[in-house]
Amino acid sequence: MFAALVLKQVEKKTLASIEQLDESQLPEGEVLVAVDYSSLNYKDGLAITGKGKIVRHFPMVPGIDLAGSVLASDDARYQPGDAVVLTGWGVGENHWGGMAQKAKLKADWLVPLPQGLSAKKAMMVGTAGFTAMLCVQALIDAEIKPEHGTILVTGASGGVGSVAVSLLAQLGYSVAAVTGRVQQNGPLLEKLGASQIIDRSEFEQAARPLEKQLWAGAIDTVGSKILAKVLAQMDYNSAVAACGLVGGFDLPTTVMPFILRNVRLQGIDSVNCPSAKRIAAWEQLAKLLPASYFEQACTEISLSQAPKYAENITNGQTTGRVVIKL
Ligand code: NAP
Repeated sequence: MFAALVLKQVEKKTLASIEQLDESQLPEGEVLVAVDYSSLNYKDGLAITGKGKIVRHFPMVPGIDLAGSVLASDDARYQPGDAVVLTGWGVGENHWGGMAQKAKLKADWLVPLPQGLSAKKAMMVGTAGFTAMLCVQALIDAEIKPEHGTILVTGASGGVGSVAVSLLAQLGYSVAAVTGRVQQNGPLLEKLGASQIIDRSEFEQAARPLEKQLWAGAIDTVGSKILAKVLAQMDYNSAVAACGLVGGFDLPTTVMPFILRNVRLQGIDSVNCPSAKRIAAWEQLAKLLPASYFEQACTEISLSQAPKYAENITNGQTTGRVVIKL
């Protein structure tokens, strides 16, 4: 038997409780993994609290991320003992996920844990950090270089934002961090490498179609009016990587930044990211993230604390990454 957080739906309400499960209850999959760590993302928060329609069927074990070691495998690519990491692919949404001591998974979904990352460190990165790497890579692919100017990161003290700040600083970019918690998280963001901390309120007033050009690139985790404001302030020929919607999924903007300033808006999806790009991103993360990132921006919790932290993350009250020890 092993412990799992199980989500059930009763009278349209999502209920989360820890249950003891048997291996025979696990869904189909070629690889059985002993999960060492999972993590808590904004999406997990929505799933566990039921605030967002994330879970496709119940009962569901949440956890869009997991890291651990292979116990048994029907696929030649994986042998017992291999260390693996998994993010996305609908795990924790329509296939039982990482918030359990064991998981059965498709071999195609797994990534060998890159050298230099333990299971815990991989979960300090998790979907949020992996997405941050995809956003940074999108700016690099758009040929935005450190000498072009400052990169703006919104939702900077969150999981995606904090890794994005750290990665950009490691790559030599000057970083401006937008946060709603300047007093609380400003010093941490500076330690991660931000040279400018901006109060979120400055981005909350309605944007004019075009404003003063300030940013060579941007990573947006918020959406809605904040992304509209960011777009209005982008430099000529700059690029924005947009991955999130914590501020809303609308986008009250105009075509002006695109047609008068050649601004490019690149959407980022981590869930169905192809395998080769995934493996490359994980290698980059292992190479780039400094020891200081792992020392500063992480909270470790137990499975039983996951529902409380799920509530917190949906209220914008967590800082950096939250990892779950199984
Ligand atoms: P998170 O840890 O909760 O971070 C979000 C941050 O945004 C918060 O820490 C807060 O930072 C800020 N924030 C919270 N509520 C806000 C509001 N109402 N208006 C403006 N800012 C607000 O979440 P995360 O895991 O980093 O995820 C961030 C977003 O990216 C989510 O929407 C998530 O769904 C999305 N995401 C997308 C993908 C993808 O594949 N596209 C992958 C991962 C995540 P401050 O206090 O510093 O302002």
